[in-house]
Amino acid sequence: MKKTNYYALKLAFTYFFFATLWILFSDRVVTALATNLEMHELGQAFKGHFFVVVTSMMLWSLARKNNLALERASDIDSVTGLHSPSVFMRHVDTLLAPRDQQTSYVLVIIDIDGFTSLTNKLGFERTNHLLSDMAHAIEVSTLLDKLTSRVHADRFACLVALDGASDMALYIDRLHRECHRHLQRYEQQATCSIGVALFGPDGYDAATLMTAATRALNEAKKRKNTVTYHDMHLTEQAQKRRQLVSALRVAINNKEIEVVFQPQYRLTSGELSGLEVLARWTHETYGVVPPSTFITLAEEQGFCEDLTALVLEKAANQLRDSDLLGTVIQRVSVNISAVEFNSQSAIRRIDDYLKLNPEFARYLCLEITETAALDDILECARVVDILKRHGVAFSIDDFGVGYTSLGMFNRINVDEIKIDRSFIQSMETDSRAKAITAGIIDITKRLEINVVAEGVETATQLALLKSFGCEYVQGYYLGYPSTLSELKVAMPVRKVNANIDNS
Ligand code: C2E
Ligand code: CA
Ligand code: CA
Repeated sequence: MKKTNYYALKLAFTYFFFATLWILFSDRVVTALATNLEMHELGQAFKGHFFVVVTSMMLWSLARKNNLALERASDIDSVTGLHSPSVFMRHVDTLLAPRDQQTSYVLVIIDIDGFTSLTNKLGFERTNHLLSDMAHAIEVSTLLDKLTSRVHADRFACLVALDGASDMALYIDRLHRECHRHLQRYEQQATCSIGVALFGPDGYDAATLMTAATRALNEAKKRKNTVTYHDMHLTEQAQKRRQLVSALRVAINNKEIEVVFQPQYRLTSGELSGLEVLARWTHETYGVVPPSTFITLAEEQGFCEDLTALVLEKAANQLRDSDLLGTVIQRVSVNISAVEFNSQSAIRRIDDYLKLNPEFARYLCLEITETAALDDILECARVVDILKRHGVAFSIDDFGVGYTSLGMFNRINVDEIKIDRSFIQSMETDSRAKAITAGIIDITKRLEINVVAEGVETATQLALLKSFGCEYVQGYYLGYPSTLSELKVAMPVRKVNANIDNS
């Protein structure tokens, strides 16, 4: 039954019930209460007025209660369960009232492209399911209570809070992909467009931000399936980023990512002990893209598994061809990203690779960052044990910058730690960095874990590390990352001790 009918019927029934009781019993009540004839006549005369007063009050209270219930019901969109635009705007304004916010807020409007033809294809009921699904997806990804709304048939608005460190473009791209994924479950060709406005530069209240985001959305709708920021500069940046992502995908598929090798030396003997494999990408239009950029993109986009497979393949092939493996070089370190290390499918792929390449696996050392290891220490220990069955070694990279717990060494069976280069580089001027470096070397030696100092750039740093008893060193002072052929040329003449002596 419709809510309005229900409320009207409830009102009529209550009135009917009360009036019937009144007709049946009011005379009896007056007779029972009146002690003489005069009082009886007075009671009869005012009985009608009393009835009117009581029923008026009753009707007022019922009507008010019902109106409030109807109002509450109209605050909720019956299709999606989201709050109505008016509630949304009110909440946005309340949240944004203090202007000196630390959090950066963005107002996002998401609109389905070609909604009319989509509705024709899907029909009324399936379209409603789709809208409800999209609403849920958007609501989950914004995480702010009551700050998602369906503002028009196929148009959603949401307010998103980003802390300073969050990458806005990355977040919006993820939201776009998530909405796209939901749309595709209903119709393969369906897309959506997004308009974005920023609290501050684009406005300070709900109405202004909505206008700015709608303007941005109108631009996005011209091209369809795009994200547009109200600030054109941000749109350009986001576009460049997306182009770089596609170029990276192509580069990985076409095996255009190259590898270079940075030497590691045993400090006590001065001999070359191993190589770290580092990925390099030079794009014909974008030029040299630094690893800090493309590794981060690969991590965000889920390309890391393919990238690691490519790096392993290239490094193994080049080393095999050079005849260095097992002779001059006893260890090859490859970086594994934290994202990969925490993904079951990625680990399975590395496991398969090691199974198929036992000759390379025995020289391999997998470097994982300290933060990856600390994410879920028990799971990490399990993965390390699985992969170690193939004879690979494990190294904790960038050691000292995460929230290290020494208890980690009890749980994870690591072979090596690499002291983060920030400690090595400030050792000469910062006595704390010096003490920490010496302390890390001391502890790891007692635990019989190899220690590598990375980022060694000066003879003084090298001498200090030697005095602390550091076993292995790596850094520009000893050798830049280079191709194997370049390394081969430098190898016979480069020895760590010679470098110390020369300084
Ligand atoms: P990382 O694993 O800490 O690698 C060492 C980085 O320090 C390299 O930067 C190297 O060129 C640089 N480096 C070496 N010696 C010195 C020095 O004396 N001074 C200074 N300032 N820097 C030095 P690169 O090649 O730019 O790589 C940056 C990061 O990108 C790496 O840090 C690693 O986390 C990541 N990376 C590189 N290749 C790969 C890869 O194949 N897979 C993954 N997952 N990550 C990679
Ligand atoms: Ca590394
Ligand atoms: Ca490192």
